[in-house]
Amino acid sequence: MIIQFEQDIKESQKEAIINRIKGLKYKPTEVKTQKGDYLIGIGKRNFDIRSIGHMDGIKDIHIVSEDYKLVSKKWKVKATTIDLGDGIVIEDGGFQIMAGPCSIEGEDQIRKTIAHLKENGVSIMRGGVFKPRSSPYAFRGMGIEGLELWYQLAKEAGIKIVTEVMQVSQIEEMDPYVDIYQVGARNTQNFNLLDELGKNTDKPVMIKRGISGTIDELLYSAEYVFSAGNERLLLCERGIRTYEKATRNTMDLNAVAVLKEKTHLPVIADPSHGIGIRDFVEPIALASIMAGADGVIYETHEKPEEAYSDGQQTLNFPESAKLIDRMKKTFALRESF
Ligand code: PEP
Ligand code: MN
Repeated sequence: MIIQFEQDIKESQKEAIINRIKGLKYKPTEVKTQKGDYLIGIGKRNFDIRSIGHMDGIKDIHIVSEDYKLVSKKWKVKATTIDLGDGIVIEDGGFQIMAGPCSIEGEDQIRKTIAHLKENGVSIMRGGVFKPRSSPYAFRGMGIEGLELWYQLAKEAGIKIVTEVMQVSQIEEMDPYVDIYQVGARNTQNFNLLDELGKNTDKPVMIKRGISGTIDELLYSAEYVFSAGNERLLLCERGIRTYEKATRNTMDLNAVAVLKEKTHLPVIADPSHGIGIRDFVEPIALASIMAGADGVIYETHEKPEEAYSDGQQTLNFPESAKLIDRMKKTFALRESF
């Protein structure tokens, strides 16, 4: 059960509602986010919601039977819009592109990527400064200095930043420079990190699907952040590990369509990690759009063969420009349906 409180609810009204919920043998948890004040009731007994729906201070009440509630479309039919400012929004029915290198490598690379994005009308740049690498000997990112440098250059150019946060201690130092936090596939179930991203920032958080994670597990991860106080969330399908060895991961396009049905949160597709092979990034990106994605995130680099990480799945700038053009055409086709 989800109760949304009226904004001006009095403490005495809240107490009366909580007592009534407890009387129904439901366990109440209060959730306060930057957008609303809610009471989540966990319980099994069936009851008529009209018996409490009239109580003072209640704006809305819904029964949501799934374990994830606040991210469910059963409660919030209206899709969540992520507004990054300066007219850059990610929303249901729209389409946003996020592109950039796997890893931020230095000033020259940042400048060239920004120029490429601007030339092609892309407003959000991706890149990692803290890199989760399978091998400890691989490049592990430029760290906070890299992010500060990137921020200065991106800000001048009016470009927004999406970048991965790997641990709780990084949130505070990263916060001034980030437009969207990315939670990587290896951290999807790092519940401490999710909790802290709920409590300690108002910035949007894009949660990637775990390498071996189910769709529901991704939704539970989003529920963690929401219930800890931050409802500015995006979900990202980035491929899962299957028995298939011909590709790095198996891009689960089913998930894009299913998530659009289950949740009100925007759904982003990552074909670069999803398939892991440069030549196939384009068809999977276009297919993701037709599956209903609200945006695509992919990797591009001036010289992919020299990229510090993930070069094999990274597009060079002409390939990236071609992809952008085709994605726009595909989106126009989807809109025409
Ligand atoms: C990345 O975006 O570069 C990345 C490491 O992604 P994932 O967490 O999906 O592997
Ligand atoms: Mn990568």
